[in-house]
Amino acid sequence: MIRAFVALPLPVTLRQRLMLVQSLLHLPRPAVRPVPPENLHLTLAFVGEQPAPLVEDLHHALEALRAQAFDLTLRGVSAFGGRTPRSVHAGVEPSEPLARLQRKVLRAMDEVGLDPERRRFTPHVTLARLDWRRLDEADRTRLLRGIVDQDGFRAGPAEIAAFALYRSHLGREGPHYDELARYGLEGALA
Ligand code: ATP
Ligand code: MG
Repeated sequence: MIRAFVALPLPVTLRQRLMLVQSLLHLPRPAVRPVPPENLHLTLAFVGEQPAPLVEDLHHALEALRAQAFDLTLRGVSAFGGRTPRSVHAGVEPSEPLARLQRKVLRAMDEVGLDPERRRFTPHVTLARLDWRRLDEADRTRLLRGIVDQDGFRAGPAEIAAFALYRSHLGREGPHYDELARYGLEGALA
């Protein structure tokens, strides 16, 4: 079985800005686990644990997918999880081409018999995962203040010229992602 997902690799300009934001946030280990720079990505669809031949089928469907290159702008920093945050992420400016690409990826999954989750697509780049209960009051306050301070964060626009299929290996030291294949978008300059 292969644990797979489809995501946008991030241009180095965006990745560098996200690393800067990570360094400005209060992310105390071990309760908080920042995402390592090489793992920063924007998930389009989670495929999950699947037999290798099915992932191969998906690869061919993704190869056949046609979508336009587009500009991505990151905006704002916030947390998922409501009153007990479990992750901190950078937001994304609304982008119709991004939404279209995500729908095409879901359609490709459908075509090969994978059943994609139909939750509303909330594009984001996870910066850190955390265990809120293991943070004391002072750390919680500093973390939340840091998020508020990053409210004006903006990075880009940067051209998204490709998307990719990844394999995820979950490990005790955090996940490791392997890029299985990369798919170019039409009209990309770079
Ligand atoms: P870990 O699970 O160890 O915290 P991770 O979430 O980065 O690491 P995976 O669980 O393999 O690694 O997930 C790969 C990508 O797919 C991540 O972007 C993750 O947020 C996303 N993802 C994982 N599970 C789901 C899910 N059930 N629905 C939507 N996206 C998911
Ligand atoms: Mg996960």
